[in-house]
Amino acid sequence: MTEANSEAIQSPIYQAIADRIDQIRSSIPETVRLVAVSKYTTAEAICAAYVAGVRDFGESRVQDAKIKQEELADLTDITWHMIGSLQSNKAKQAIAQFDWIHSLDRLSLAEQCDRLIGELKKSPKLLLQVKLAEDPSKSGWTEAELFADLPNLAKLSNLDIVGLMTILPLGLSDEQAYAVFCRVEKLAAKLRSLGWHRIQELSMGMSADYAIAARAGASMIRVGNQIFKL
Ligand SMILES: *Cc1c(COP(=O)(O)O)cnc(C)c1O
Repeated sequence: MTEANSEAIQSPIYQAIADRIDQIRSSIPETVRLVAVSKYTTAEAICAAYVAGVRDFGESRVQDAKIKQEELADLTDITWHMIGSLQSNKAKQAIAQFDWIHSLDRLSLAEQCDRLIGELKKSPKLLLQVKLAEDPSKSGWTEAELFADLPNLAKLSNLDIVGLMTILPLGLSDEQAYAVFCRVEKLAAKLRSLGWHRIQELSMGMSADYAIAARAGASMIRVGNQIFKL
């Protein structure tokens, strides 16, 4: 056991975090990847979740993530996920720092990432952020917008696009949430049938609705508050 691990187990927050992770895991299929969203928490809490078995962590700001990534540099098998909306001027850093980017949400950003990935020789896995329920406060492609942009996206040969991501609007019932998640799953199937065979991943579901998302076919859930109780 490393020094980091034994310190984490002695930390008063360890048991609570480990219990919540167990509870989440027991309510979703084993094949669903749990991304622990650590954007509002500390390196200490991340370490506790790591010791409890989590290897995927989600951050929403490039700069905040960098500090934690440096603090946790010894934990070399962590997979870092960028889940927050990405300003153009942060794209280069995001590509350098993250293994996955879930929030590719517009053609101009995709074009920029394509150029940067060519230069940086680093190619994170990318998810297209889609918005299949009306939500003025969220970014992402509607289905119609995505189909309009597909021919241009197809030209960006440096991009490793492997799936879709969605964030639901607040205030949906469980039934409505399930219906929207199912539409995302259907959209992925439609894209595969059009030749986008690599669109296999579905990043959907947060603390409030991860179990519903898993039922609708999520391959990854992004859970923050329910693990870290912020
Ligand atoms: C913050 C955030 C989450 C986690 O939300 P919780 O409600 O804390 O589980 C998931 N996805 C995105 C894109 C987020 O910004």
